[in-house]
Amino acid sequence: MRHAYRKFLAVDLSRVSQGLDPHAFSEDSFLSLARVLRDKLRISVDRGSVTPLMHFIYETFEKSSARISSGKLACRKGCSHCCNIWTDAYAPEVFFVAKKLSRNDGSRETSAVSSTGEFSASVSFVQREALPIPCPLLVDNACSIYAARPLNCRTAVSLDEEACKKAFIESQEIEIPIPPAWGNLGQMYSMALKAALHHANLACEPYEWNSALKLAMEDTELEKLWLRGQNVLCGAPVARPVEPFTHPFWRNLYDRAFAG
Ligand code: SF4
Repeated sequence: MRHAYRKFLAVDLSRVSQGLDPHAFSEDSFLSLARVLRDKLRISVDRGSVTPLMHFIYETFEKSSARISSGKLACRKGCSHCCNIWTDAYAPEVFFVAKKLSRNDGSRETSAVSSTGEFSASVSFVQREALPIPCPLLVDNACSIYAARPLNCRTAVSLDEEACKKAFIESQEIEIPIPPAWGNLGQMYSMALKAALHHANLACEPYEWNSALKLAMEDTELEKLWLRGQNVLCGAPVARPVEPFTHPFWRNLYDRAFAG
């Protein structure tokens, strides 16, 4: 690795390894995070495993979210309204959970992933708005892979349980009150991961969770193929396919992150 590159990476790592300030969107923090994730992704590609990348993301995400001081969340173990709606996740998040599941072949969760994944693949994003489908990883209303859950699940927080029930179970049009810091954090991590994937020429659309999980769980070779550049999860639905980094704000940050 070139000396200048190593020096930059050290600065970037020191900026993000103890977590980001969630209370304001910082362009410098975002740029550092995108570059560090590019480096973690390079390690994952070399090892043929998404684990180094995902360990870093979730570890620093938890440090960042622990710094959120605003708003008392209504979220608690046993409340799972938000686990019934369309959730999507990036491919490495899917593989990270899928390989844990595939070690428990024949369990209640793996057969639930197979059947729910198949059904979810046949339902569009718009249809899902009026059709709650419980996540196959819910056990007794709690997430059975909590420590490995994707970013979208980590940031699905609320100040009002009743609002969640109305919106997610009864399909009412109602706004969920969310402290802004959670939105900042979700956006920074999600877009930094997307940037690192796009820069590596890997598929960077988030896939519908249930169906992508089924595909990845049923063929554990897909993780390595995906890391080699094959778009192996393209059979899973995507909410709204868009060309990545076309919005001027994000294009500017993407170009600055990887310039030079
Ligand atoms: S992965 Fe866990 S938190 Fe996310 S929707 Fe499924 S049960 Fe809920």
